[in-house]
Amino acid sequence: MSDELPISKKRDLILERMAEAAKRAERSDSQVLVAVSKVQPDDRIAQMLAAGQTVFGENRVQEAQKRWGESFAENRKEIELRLIGPLQTNKAEDAIRLFDVIETLDREKLAKAFIKAADKVGRMPRLLVQVNTGEEEQKAGISPKELAGFLTRLKRNYDITPEGLMCIPPVGEAASPHFWLLKKLADEHGLKTISMGMSGDFETAIEMGATHVRIGSALFGDRDYN
Ligand SMILES: *Cc1c(COP(=O)(O)O)cnc(C)c1O
Repeated sequence: MSDELPISKKRDLILERMAEAAKRAERSDSQVLVAVSKVQPDDRIAQMLAAGQTVFGENRVQEAQKRWGESFAENRKEIELRLIGPLQTNKAEDAIRLFDVIETLDREKLAKAFIKAADKVGRMPRLLVQVNTGEEEQKAGISPKELAGFLTRLKRNYDITPEGLMCIPPVGEAASPHFWLLKKLADEHGLKTISMGMSGDFETAIEMGATHVRIGSALFGDRDYN
């Protein structure tokens, strides 16, 4: 038996830890728990829904379509669904149909595909820009020094105004400098939503200004990729 606590209890404990972190930082706003449901089995998703969780994050369009368009289609209306994984341009239309928020806008080509799809589908999700705070070669996201120009072009060329920023700090590095940088960039550009912090570092993220934390394994239990 690997998993001791029921999912509702795990969720309560995470919410408590979030509240305590906010208190330490003397924050009076509240932060949103995004339950990262990727790869999790249906019974855990059902328990999370039963616990009252309404905000979910998914990394892959096809997996999310299956989960929230088929298995849990009847719950779709009551939840807010957020795409937190990198997106290929050829999946833009599917993403525009499915998600309420897309957190991973990071290039003009994608913005262009969003506009085209939104025209066709008749809806446009809220958008965040992913920032590659560690300037990692292989990682998605716009580099911090290109952010200002990117935001300008989004507005000018596509009339897109993102509501915030998201980042995934490099593995094996202290996360706090990355959280600090994302918060600074968001403030500089007057962006209110800051998506940062995962299972291992969400309290630090909240202390440093996160409005949304994305938590998977600490909430659902480990992901089984087999
Ligand atoms: C998987 C994932 C998470 C959640 O990770 P955990 O460590 O399981 O909490 C958060 N954000 C993104 C972008 C992810 O891909």
